[in-house]
Amino acid sequence: MALMNQSSEPIKTVQKPRSVTINPPKMCQPMGAILAYMGVHGCVPLVHGSQGCSTYPRYNIARHFRESAEVAVSSLAEDAAVYGGARNLTEAIKNVKSRLNPDAIGICTTCMSETIGDDVKLISKKALTPGDAVKIFPASTPSYVGTHLTGYDNALRTLVETMAIKGVANNKINIITGIINPGDIREIKNMLRLMNVKSIFLSDISDTLDSPILPGGQKPVLPDGGTSIGDIADSANSLGTIAICRTAGSAATYLKNKFNVPSVLEPAPIGVINTDRFVHNICKLSGVSIPDDIIKERGRLIDSMVDVHHYMYGRKVAIFGDPDLVSAIVRFCAEAGMNPTVAMTATKHKDFAPDIRAVNTEYKTDTQILEGTDLYEFHEVVKNHGAELILGNSKGKDVADDEGVPLVRFGFPVYDRVGVYRYSIMGYSGSVYLLDQMTNAILGHKYDPNKLHQ
Ligand code: SF4
Repeated sequence: MALMNQSSEPIKTVQKPRSVTINPPKMCQPMGAILAYMGVHGCVPLVHGSQGCSTYPRYNIARHFRESAEVAVSSLAEDAAVYGGARNLTEAIKNVKSRLNPDAIGICTTCMSETIGDDVKLISKKALTPGDAVKIFPASTPSYVGTHLTGYDNALRTLVETMAIKGVANNKINIITGIINPGDIREIKNMLRLMNVKSIFLSDISDTLDSPILPGGQKPVLPDGGTSIGDIADSANSLGTIAICRTAGSAATYLKNKFNVPSVLEPAPIGVINTDRFVHNICKLSGVSIPDDIIKERGRLIDSMVDVHHYMYGRKVAIFGDPDLVSAIVRFCAEAGMNPTVAMTATKHKDFAPDIRAVNTEYKTDTQILEGTDLYEFHEVVKNHGAELILGNSKGKDVADDEGVPLVRFGFPVYDRVGVYRYSIMGYSGSVYLLDQMTNAILGHKYDPNKLHQ
C-alpha cells in the first residue's frame, strides 16, 4: 500500500502493518478479459478454471449491465489439479462450438489452470478439427497477478496478436476504450461521427452489453454488435491507435511495434482538458479540423461549469476507481473549482501519481494519492482529509453512508442503481452529465440551505 503526498514521500495512514486487504475495489483478471471478449462480435468467453471463476464475473455483468452474459467454463475440479485440465478444456471448446456456433472463443485462464501449467494454446489448437472456422483467442490471465484491468489488457493484446494482419490502408483510427460503459462508447462514437472520422473500436460492448429488444423478437443468444473479427484484423492498417485507458495500452504498443501504427496513450476524455486532448489527437492522426458541433459541445460544458460554480466551488470530493478514470475525474473536479481531497485506485499504474501531482501543481490542490490499496484505507484518509461527496462504484456505499455524504456512482460494478451503464461521463457532453450528477447530489443532500438556495 502506498499513499504519497505531493513530494512523493509515503505517508503512514495505518498504525500497524496489515497482512489483510479489506474491501478491495478491484476484481480478478478473468473479469476484465471477459469484458474485452464480450466486445467482439460472435465471441463467447470461455473461462478455463473452476465454476466460481465464471459465476462471479457473470453475476457482476448481470448486476451492472442488466444483461445475461454467455460465459462458458471448463469446470475444473480436484482431478484436474492432479492430471491437468486438457480434457476439460477440449470438451468445453467442443460444447461451445456445437451449442452456440460462435465466430470466436476467447479463452481466459485462472489461478488454477495457470498453477497447473496447462498449455492453453496447444490444447485449444488440438481441440479444433480441420476446416473449423471458429477463431480461438487464448489469453493468459492468472489472477494472482494484477487486477481486472490486467486481464482486459491481456485479452485485448491477444485479440490483435492473433488477428491483426497488414493489408491496405483503411483511413480509420483504432480506439481502445478500456473498461467503460456502453453509453461512454456511444458518446465517443458520436464525437467521431461529428468529426467525420472512421474508427475501429477494440473492443466494443456498446451493443453487446446494452442490447435492444427489437420489434417481434427475443434477444439472440449471442447479441448483435461488437467489433467484427475482420475489423480486428484490419486494425493493423489504421492511421493510428488512441488508447483512452492507459492500463489497456499494450495492444496499441503491439500494433505500433509490429505494424508501425502510431499510438497515443492518454487519460480518459473526461472534463475540458482531457477531452481537448482526445479531440486534438483525433485531428492530428486523421488530418480533420474540429467541426463547429464539437466546439459548441465544448462551449456547453464550459457554460454548465459556470452555471453550478456557486454550488460546487471548494466542495471536498474523494474519488476511487480505475486509475485512468480517477485521474481524469480528479482533473475535471479541479477544473470545476472543486477540492479533490483523496484520489484512490486499487490498480497500481505508473501514470496515476504523476497525473494527480500535475493537477495539484496546476490547481493548487492537495489531493492525497492512494495506490494499490483498499477501501478501508480510503475511508481512513477520507476521515482525515474530509469529503462532502464521494465518487466511485457501488462498493463505496458503506464509506459514503458512514461519512453521511452522497455517493455519485461511476465505473464498474454499479449494482445498487439502475441505468448507470446507459449514460456517458465522457466527452464534453458526458462531462456535463457527470457535473450535473455531482451538483444534484450536493443539492439533494442536507447541506447548509443558505449555501444551496441562491
Ligand atoms: S481469483 Fe482466481 S480462483 Fe478466484 S475467481 Fe478469480 S481466477 Fe478464479
